[in-house]
Amino acid sequence: MKLPKIRELVEAIKALIKGPYTSKFPKEVHRPHPNFRGQPKFDEEKCLGCCACQEVCPVEAINHLDVVVNVNRPKRYMVHYTDTCIFCGQCEAACIADHQGIKLSTDWELSFFDRSKAQEQIEKEIQLCEICGGVIACRDHLNWISQKLGELTYSSPTLYLSRLKELGVIDENIISALKDQGRSDRVKILCARCRRKTTLTTEK
Ligand code: SF4
Ligand code: SF4
Repeated sequence: MKLPKIRELVEAIKALIKGPYTSKFPKEVHRPHPNFRGQPKFDEEKCLGCCACQEVCPVEAINHLDVVVNVNRPKRYMVHYTDTCIFCGQCEAACIADHQGIKLSTDWELSFFDRSKAQEQIEKEIQLCEICGGVIACRDHLNWISQKLGELTYSSPTLYLSRLKELGVIDENIISALKDQGRSDRVKILCARCRRKTTLTTEK
């Protein structure tokens, strides 16, 4: 008969003292280890709506939907599909908001009877181009870029006007009153295409 090795004996004695490693789920609530990689969760406050997490997700478990029903409050919905996610953590690693916009949680009990309910979403406010009405970016994202750039923000009307809007020191009606489609259009919040048009046009 082979004698057990010392290491195995030590492990066996430890297990006897500590009790079983497995839990008695579902009889008892299972508490996962703090480092357990469970469902990623968006933080609506910290997320900037930049979609970097969507870009890196290897299984397309993150998507976004821009909804412009009310032009005064256009929204971007960031959606996470729990049934597709493989809990790899790439979204958290790539998050530009100091990895706080989306984070892996310890949530592990993710079974659904209705698969369409296997998703979570947050909403962010988006900024539209003041000429064509196209989506530029989320307001929080523009604000974040502006803060990163510091005084360089003032080289871009879109960024500094967004910043002033955020600070509440800009009258939106004054901006929308400037409709000559010429030089004054340059001092508006514009998408890249409209900015190029107003800059390169030789008319007016
Ligand atoms: S954990 Fe991985 S699979 Fe899940 S949403 Fe994030 S990047 Fe996608
Ligand atoms: S801020 Fe982070 S969580 Fe939010 S959209 Fe960007 S990468 Fe995703």
